[in-house]
Amino acid sequence: MKFLDEAKVFIHSGWGGAGCCSFRREKYIELGGPDGGDGGKGGDVYIEAVEGLNTLIDFRFRPIIKAKRGGHGMGKSRTGASGADATIKVPVGTQVFDEDGSVKLADLTEVGEKLILAEGGRGGLGNEHFKSSTNRAPRRTVPGEPGVEMTLRLRLKLIADVGLLGLPNAGKSTFLSRVSRAKPKIADYPFTTLNPQLGIVLMSGQRSFVAADIPGLIEGASEGVGLGYQFLRHIERCRVLIHLIDGTDEDVATNYKTIRGELDKYSDALEDKPEIIALNKCDALDKKAITKKIKALKKVSGAEVYELSAVTGEGLNEVLERAWKEFQGNIQDEVEVEPETPTPTDTKWSPL
Ligand code: GDP
Ligand code: MG
Repeated sequence: MKFLDEAKVFIHSGWGGAGCCSFRREKYIELGGPDGGDGGKGGDVYIEAVEGLNTLIDFRFRPIIKAKRGGHGMGKSRTGASGADATIKVPVGTQVFDEDGSVKLADLTEVGEKLILAEGGRGGLGNEHFKSSTNRAPRRTVPGEPGVEMTLRLRLKLIADVGLLGLPNAGKSTFLSRVSRAKPKIADYPFTTLNPQLGIVLMSGQRSFVAADIPGLIEGASEGVGLGYQFLRHIERCRVLIHLIDGTDEDVATNYKTIRGELDKYSDALEDKPEIIALNKCDALDKKAITKKIKALKKVSGAEVYELSAVTGEGLNEVLERAWKEFQGNIQDEVEVEPETPTPTDTKWSPL
């Protein structure tokens, strides 16, 4: 999957309905006068960020979005119905640009954010409007206004739930290819991945989340060395980090500290991010070495360390379950509200 998803859409708000030319005709009422109603307003085009979407692929198949036109005015002073609005539903994180992509028109960052992109045309006026003392039988009407047409570009920056960290060669790409259908480049030399790769991880029970392989983090990344700096920005948006450590390296504790050091230097926001630590490539190690390295990592991080092999899949599930649990916790933190405890009052009720 591409990191940046793009789509071009053509939108068209509804025309206003035309005004009507009509005269009142009723038994015993002579020269009833003009009674043509106004046209209805054309439908607007909105854009709304909704939950549960994570791609703009739908717009490749349905690039034209039109709102309905307003109804025409009718006799007996009846106004035409307003045209139905059209709403473009997009995932959170979508940005709207003009046709050549140079001017940003909107940035939808929250679920439920809704903006109007094109207003429908106003309805026309019926002949009723043009009566006067000198012209009692006007035949003049005004047609509805046209809607607005434009081409827009939608751009989506996917926001990953889980970021995969680690020194080059730690096995991040292997991990991602194993847990999702993403196909990152995998090789045993550093910097095989130049762009953050995203994959959708599907777990049992209809659970899913987006994981990103954040490549190129090396010592000095927070100062702009290597490819690290731009990718640190992506990490900022992840909710949970999975930190992979190459078990075949001699000094795993130093490796861990190198990455941690970069994160801490970059920003405070990264320091408090939940982190899951996993010793990768355990298939290539013997039991004794695993125990020793896990112990060293536990000591330096003060946290639980998972045993993992991205190649054989050993231990993968535990890491994913833990990640899932972490961001459930995260969500609860965000919405948790202090229960309001009624303060006991022993003062007597008084109207004052
Ligand atoms: P990245 O730079 O962190 O993305 O690392 P890659 O995923 O490209 O992996 C680097 C090398 O380590 C590749 O040759 C992988 O085959 C190898 N590798 C990754 N995970 C494992 C593992 O669990 N066990 C073993 N034995 N090798 C692994
Ligand atoms: Mg890689």
